[in-house]
Amino acid sequence: MNYHIITLGCQMNKNDSERIATILNGMGMESIDTPDHADVVIINTCSVRQAAEDRVSGLTKNLEKIKKQKPDLIVVVTGCLPGRDDNGLLKERLHHVDLYFPIHEIIHLPQRLSELNPALRPMDDLEKDYLALRPTLDNTFQAFVTIQTGCNQFCTYCVVPYARGREINRTVADILAEIKDLASRGYIEITLLGQIVNHYIAPDRELFLADNPYKENDFAKLLWEINKIEGIERIHFTAPHPLYMDDEVIDALTLPKQLNFLHIPVQSGNNEILKNMNRKHTREDFIEIIEKIRKKIPDMAIGTDIIVGFSGETNAQFEETVDLYKQCDFDISYNAQYSTRSGTLADKQFADDVEKKEKKRRWQVLQDHMGKRTEEKNQIYVGKTVSVLVDTYKNGRCGGNSREMKRVDFAGDAALIGTIVHVDIYKAGAWMLWGKACI
Ligand code: SF4
Repeated sequence: MNYHIITLGCQMNKNDSERIATILNGMGMESIDTPDHADVVIINTCSVRQAAEDRVSGLTKNLEKIKKQKPDLIVVVTGCLPGRDDNGLLKERLHHVDLYFPIHEIIHLPQRLSELNPALRPMDDLEKDYLALRPTLDNTFQAFVTIQTGCNQFCTYCVVPYARGREINRTVADILAEIKDLASRGYIEITLLGQIVNHYIAPDRELFLADNPYKENDFAKLLWEINKIEGIERIHFTAPHPLYMDDEVIDALTLPKQLNFLHIPVQSGNNEILKNMNRKHTREDFIEIIEKIRKKIPDMAIGTDIIVGFSGETNAQFEETVDLYKQCDFDISYNAQYSTRSGTLADKQFADDVEKKEKKRRWQVLQDHMGKRTEEKNQIYVGKTVSVLVDTYKNGRCGGNSREMKRVDFAGDAALIGTIVHVDIYKAGAWMLWGKACI
């Protein structure tokens, strides 16, 4: 029996798909690269933008053709779309779907599959909490580790609190056991995932070691404990919220294994827009955080997320976002054009009233500034040596990320994948550094 998983959306969805693979492998099934000959197809959905939901509809339509030739194909839709579909209206847009449930119900998948096809045997000893399932990874050196799911913030534009529910934190015991196991199997880079990762609240904080130097923030404490795990060489996390970026978390960025990169969403540089987004911080708060970080770690690369054209955003308010971008001097920004999402507070309270053309113009202003400034900033790496975790190889060239999450390309061989290589940089563009491996 074969399965094929289609994953849409963020790293957390990718990590969830790795757990789904663990379940299906445990049922004796094998993963295949296309849906054409699969017995079970899982679509792990994203709901953040309308385009992502439209894609699910298109995917189920394509599968319908395969299902006509193979009527016993089981199509499963899980992830964020069913999670926020309280009244079943979103499901009506999908084509033939056999199973439809939110991600935390994935622990019932074996039972539900075996009810549809008795040849698929259920598993007895499945974890009750889906986050406790160990992911099946497709590489041997880099792993995502989800420490928290759900969100209590209710930013007005965001579907996550509806799609994933309220915040749930994994235990310190479970997180450290997973990372120690990864380290013992040779994994060297860990990315901690959480919707507001720096709001991690340990259900078993008594397990933190007595000599842990952090006293208030459980996330800072957790980073310190993970830094002590032998074998792990690079630690990264995403995504923190400015509200919880306190002095302990900022200090923990200096721990030896932390990557020299922080991704911290700001969304807007105007206080009225931030208030309407329910972000609970001001532009001044955000700038102060960036200043504190740069004071502690002057060469840290910093990225952000920005939404342009939120309800009622004037050009003057947008210009404040451009100004904030310049003040913070980001290395990268994931810029999005606002579109209302059904069920969110913004959809109920505000009109999506900035014209599409204007949203696109504002987006382009940020994109142009980012491309120009990032290329300028990257020139500081020319003549320097960066440390790269190699993750790809093609035609005599290796690729990987530096500790600043800059993409680096250099001549090498496939055996370097999964190792850390020091590379002398001789050329820099906006999205690539080119170098020569140090011998
Ligand atoms: S913090 Fe805001 S944007 Fe982030 S997941 Fe929670 S509600 Fe969504």
